[in-house]
Amino acid sequence: MIAEVAAGAATLGLAVGGFTYASLWPTSQIFGWTLIAGDDANEVALTFDDGPNDAATLQLLEVLARHGVRATFFAMGDFARARPEIVRQVVAEGHVLGNHTMSHPRLSTQFAARVRHELADCKAVLEDITGEAVKFFRPPFGARRPYVLRAARELGLTPVLWNVTGYDWNPIGIMDNLNKGIARNRLRGRGSNLLLHDGGHRAMGAARMDTVRAVDRLMDAYRGTATRFVTVDAWVRE
Ligand SMILES: [Zn+2]
Repeated sequence: MIAEVAAGAATLGLAVGGFTYASLWPTSQIFGWTLIAGDDANEVALTFDDGPNDAATLQLLEVLARHGVRATFFAMGDFARARPEIVRQVVAEGHVLGNHTMSHPRLSTQFAARVRHELADCKAVLEDITGEAVKFFRPPFGARRPYVLRAARELGLTPVLWNVTGYDWNPIGIMDNLNKGIARNRLRGRGSNLLLHDGGHRAMGAARMDTVRAVDRLMDAYRGTATRFVTVDAWVRE
């Protein structure tokens, strides 16, 4: 679905511009501040949406542990409730857990009350499972409106977007997409926030092993270089 969003924004481009662009394009700040990345070009955050997923999350945790890398997981409340033990393991292994709503609606087309419930319920589910405060939120499809960001802030959640799309619903070229994005950000003196998926929002069990393998190769490729893998909390402004 992100493909649709990205392609949509690109085709609309200057012709329509403005509102649609601002609410869907991940790096737009027009509708309020969102956390994307810091200005240390050597910092790269691996972020994984739409889990927990019993077809990939544990395998991903194993790969991350082998590389000694911590990542950020934006989990869905519905899936977390179904697989609390995976969520507990994510946190136990030192990763950052974020809120990705209960059921993954496009928040920019929902009433404010539904938005608030989606965020608040997911936060409560995750905090019940882990016993730890959830501080970050990623809107499904990157869609936001001022009231979405306001609802997040009222719940103490920092909205997080991204600046590199892995396009990992397509098994071909994930590593290339990530490398190109990181290189582009490096030229701009920016850190990289990589959008990847350990699950699929439509159902538990999505095939994501191509993502797991790509991430494994990426960490191999950057081993011994100046690149450091960070979690999104590294970029929170004091
Ligand atoms: Zn998602």
